[in-house]
Amino acid sequence: MSVESELRERSGNRCELCSSQENLAVYEVYPSDGSADRALLLCDVCMKSVDNPAENLNHWHCLNESMWSQLPAVQVSAYRILKKIAHEGWPQDMLDMLYLEPEVEAWAKEGLEKEEEKAQPVRDSNGNILQEGDAVSIIKDLPVKGAGFTAKQGTTVKNIHLLADDPTHIEGRVNGVKIFLKTEFLKKL
Ligand SMILES: [Zn+2]
Repeated sequence: MSVESELRERSGNRCELCSSQENLAVYEVYPSDGSADRALLLCDVCMKSVDNPAENLNHWHCLNESMWSQLPAVQVSAYRILKKIAHEGWPQDMLDMLYLEPEVEAWAKEGLEKEEEKAQPVRDSNGNILQEGDAVSIIKDLPVKGAGFTAKQGTTVKNIHLLADDPTHIEGRVNGVKIFLKTEFLKKL
């Protein structure tokens, strides 16, 4: 039996995330081993934004039901989707309720880490890519929490340091103090 017919039988010909019966196709859950255990039957709506769930935020309320599936591939996909949109609030509430067996959780995180590797480049306020060691200028007065001073507009910050896990900030030295600066308030020199 092909993976697709296996999935159609398993799901009763329904999208395994939102239950739609429209335009169903096989989605491989990373890292796929070619088996139905690591695949889902998805409708075209889910398929389109499963990897970029922020593009169709409201659709993912469907996980309210499907996240309780006993199938690890569904649990893993629900976890990854909710993690990516957790900042919206309600997905985080759902994540808080979602319990994954340790090996399922490890699988879920494996996929997220893989995506972080090809993460967004760090960009300044104009969209220019910033690199380790670049010099930037601050485009707006920024109060520095905890340091008791304001990083003044026009200040040059040399030899910036990129952060491994956060493309929205860089580390740099202002007034002799190492601080984190939001990249949206910086301009590459
Ligand atoms: Zn769907």
